Amino acid sequence: QGTLGALARLVVPRVADWCFVELLSPDGRIEHAAIHHSDPQRVAWARDLLARYPIDPDAPYGTPQVLRTGKAELVPEFPPEAYEMVARDEAHLEALRASGFRSHLSLPLQVRGRTVGVLSLVSAESGRRFGPDDLTFGTDLAHRAALAIDNARLYEAERQARELAEVANRSKSEFLSVMSHELRTPLNAIAGYTELIEMGVHGPVTPAQTEALLRIQRSQRHLLGLIDDVLNYARLEAGATRYTFEDVPVEQILGATEALVAPQLRAKGLRLEAGCDPALTVRADPEKVRQILLNLLGNAIKFTDRGGLITVECAPRDDLVAISVSDTGIGISPERLESIFEPFVQVDARLTRTEEGVGLGLAISRNLARGMGPGADLTVNSTPGTGSTFTLTLPLVSHRDTEAQR
Ligand code: ADP
Repeated sequence: QGTLGALARLVVPRVADWCFVELLSPDGRIEHAAIHHSDPQRVAWARDLLARYPIDPDAPYGTPQVLRTGKAELVPEFPPEAYEMVARDEAHLEALRASGFRSHLSLPLQVRGRTVGVLSLVSAESGRRFGPDDLTFGTDLAHRAALAIDNARLYEAERQARELAEVANRSKSEFLSVMSHELRTPLNAIAGYTELIEMGVHGPVTPAQTEALLRIQRSQRHLLGLIDDVLNYARLEAGATRYTFEDVPVEQILGATEALVAPQLRAKGLRLEAGCDPALTVRADPEKVRQILLNLLGNAIKFTDRGGLITVECAPRDDLVAISVSDTGIGISPERLESIFEPFVQVDARLTRTEEGVGLGLAISRNLARGMGPGADLTVNSTPGTGSTFTLTLPLVSHRDTEAQR
C-alpha cells in the first residue's frame, strides 16, 4: 500500500492528473488499491463515484479489458460520445462530463506472467494528451510497480506463514510442558509407594519381590529422566528458563560432574582422563553447565565401546573458555553432525533404544549453552569410527577479575 501511494504521488501531477491502481483480489474482484489526485476532495469524489457505479467486469474497454488481455490501452483523446457509451444513467453521465477526463493510459501490472492489476494514468484539467512516448515510460513504470507488489505480497505471505508456525510451535511447547508436568506427579507416587513396600511397611518382602521392586524403580527413574528432558526442553522453548550467574572455577564444576558418572564409567570399563587449569574461571550458571556436561559425558559413555577413552580438557580461547569432551566411540557422519542438535533426533534409534534419552539432550544442552552469554555455545567435531569431540564455550572471567577475587 505504501509503495503504491508513493508511485501515485510520483506521477501526479507531473505526468498525469489522476493515477488509479486496481488489483485483482484472490476471488477475482477488482479492488481500488490506490486513487490519487493532487486535490484530496477530488479523490473522495472519485471514490464515491466508483462506489455508486462499480467497474463493470465485462466492459470491453478500460481496466477489465486490460486485465483480460494483458495489453496496454492508450486513448489519446476521449471522443465526445465516449461518456454516453460508458455512463449507466443520467447522473453518471453528468458526473463523467464534470470530471473533465480527457486522455488515458491503462497498463497491465504483470507478475510472473500473470496480470494481477492495472495502473491507469488519466489526464483532465492539465489538458495533456498521452502518446506513444508515454506508453514506453508507463510500461517501464508498470513493470517496476508490479515487482514491488509481488515483493510486498511474498513478504506478507511469508509473514503470515511464520506467524502460523510460531503459534503452532507455542501450542506444542505448552502441550509438552503441561503433559510432562502432569506425568511427574503419578511417577513420584510410584517411587514413593515402591519405597514403602521395599522398606517392609506393608509386610515382609521376598528376595524375588525385592528384585521386581528394583526393576520398577529403575523404570520409574528412566521415565522420569525422559519427562524431565521434555519439560526442560519446553521451558527453554518458551524462554522460561532462569539463569543464576556466578564466577566459578571450571575445575570445581568438572569435579562434581565426574563423580556423578563414575559408576557408569566403571560399568562399561571406560577410562576418563580430565585435566583443567585451576586458574580458569567462567561466568556461568554452574547448575546448567553441570547439566550440559552430564549430557555430554553420558553420550560419550553411551556411544563408546568397552575399553575406550573419554577425555575432558579446558583451554582459554580469546575471551572464552573451551571445555571439550572427547571420546573414542562410534562417531557421527558429517551429514548428521548438525541435525543431532535438533530436538528428537537420534542418529541410530536402535543404538539408543535400550538407553535413556529421546533425542532431546543435545537440543537442550545447546540452548542452555547459548543462553549463557555472547560466544557461549555447544559445537561438535567427529570422525565416524574414531570418535567425537563436543566443545562447550563459556565466557571467561577476565584475568584481572580473577586476581581481584583472590
Ligand atoms: P539422546 O538423549 O537420545 O542420546 P541427544 O540429543 O543427547 O539424545 O543425542 C542425539 C543423538 O546424537 C544421539 O542419539 C546419537 O545418535 C548422537 N550422539 C550424541 N553424542 C554422541 C557421541 N558422543 N558419539 C556418537 N553419537 C552421538
